[in-house]
Amino acid sequence: MSDWQKTTWRTKPRVQMPDYTDAEALSAVEARLSKYPPLVFAGEARSLKKALGAASRGEAFLLQGGDCAEAFDQFSADAIRDTFKVMLQMAMVLTYGAKVPVVKVGRMAGQFAKPRSAPTEARDGLELPSYRGDIINELAFTPEARIPDPAKMLQAYTQAAATLNLLRAFSTGGYADVHQVHAWTLGFTEGEKAAKYRDLANRISDTLDFMKAAGLESDTNHNLRTVDFYTSHEALLLEYEEALCRVDSTSGKWLAGSGHMIWIGDRTRQPDGAHVEFARGVLNPVGLKCGPTLSAEDLKVLMRRLNPSNEAGKLTLIARFGAGKVAEHLPRLVRAVREEGAHVTWVCDPMHGNTIKSGSGYKTRPFDAVLREVREFFSVMNAEGAIPGGVHFEMTGQDVTECTGGVYAVSDEDLSDRYHTACDPRLNASQSLELAFLVAEELTA
Ligand code: PEP
Ligand code: MN
Repeated sequence: MSDWQKTTWRTKPRVQMPDYTDAEALSAVEARLSKYPPLVFAGEARSLKKALGAASRGEAFLLQGGDCAEAFDQFSADAIRDTFKVMLQMAMVLTYGAKVPVVKVGRMAGQFAKPRSAPTEARDGLELPSYRGDIINELAFTPEARIPDPAKMLQAYTQAAATLNLLRAFSTGGYADVHQVHAWTLGFTEGEKAAKYRDLANRISDTLDFMKAAGLESDTNHNLRTVDFYTSHEALLLEYEEALCRVDSTSGKWLAGSGHMIWIGDRTRQPDGAHVEFARGVLNPVGLKCGPTLSAEDLKVLMRRLNPSNEAGKLTLIARFGAGKVAEHLPRLVRAVREEGAHVTWVCDPMHGNTIKSGSGYKTRPFDAVLREVREFFSVMNAEGAIPGGVHFEMTGQDVTECTGGVYAVSDEDLSDRYHTACDPRLNASQSLELAFLVAEELTA
């Protein structure tokens, strides 16, 4: 990788990035960030890569989830705890279904920058630059709020550091104990509506009872008390990513120190563009969103560029086509992977192809469409003889009303009750857990 440097992305065409007007302020922020400690360490990124390699072979299963966009004004310990908690519940249900370890990766501690479908937004005769995430500008619809401000990168770094600190504490401090996680899940299956999930929950209870009887207790078994929880985000704002790049002293390679895994969005995956250029040089596992416009040829180029040594676990392909469209697009990409003999981890994002405008005017996603895309993904993978390696959800542990449907049937009219997302609609806690039960069924089938 002798022709790569953390700055070479600057020579490539860039899209979806802000034009900062105050160059001096930008340099000052970059200089400060580049002296701050990295948020993650190379050994952790390598462990995640190994786990994702296992997922590529069907020996593990990835659960990646979290907010569409983290927001400064929604930053709280409770919100972090609740998302962490529901992800652990989902992971337990999925582990039981898949009978393999579940690799847990949050869209957390860095998921701040957003690509947008249009550069500007018009409302009541006023046209302003689009909101691009709290690390860039502000959601408020005023000209001042929409000016990109480099100082926001420092606030994002601080929030990411505090988030990761809490996640690390929850992961190892006893909060993640397997018995506790299961007790939470039993609460969900108690109601009449969730009765159909009780059977699986009871089977998990039996397994835990058996383990206890056999002396496999969590106070003596570290694996039952702690979890490995990783962070990820879209590496969109490359000034931030570059400033947090660090050399790994063990291997001499470059680490994106902003999170364990980074991904390239569906709008920034141009093979000759800045985002691919940045991602190709770091040792972290890299995700690539694969939408309907991705051709087999481009995928081949991208795989060679992003994973030149064909390392298992390095590249995760995140399919996001929309319910009803998976069979049209996924087979050509699965075949391209096979023709290249490439090692990749195939993951389903059933969120981004299923966004609609509800009758009440809110951007939403119907639970049924999300589930349908997951099922189509599994069916194409099976038909093509490829391995479904995981799922990627926009979700929160909070009781929001942003996606419609689920056992506690959120309706179009309910959306206005607790619609808090700064960007795309998320599954709430019960919808997320329900989906995990349904994915577990797919994995057991
Ligand atoms: C996202 O993950 O929030 C996103 C913008 O996805 P995509 O790039 O797949 O549209
Ligand atoms: Mn999103």
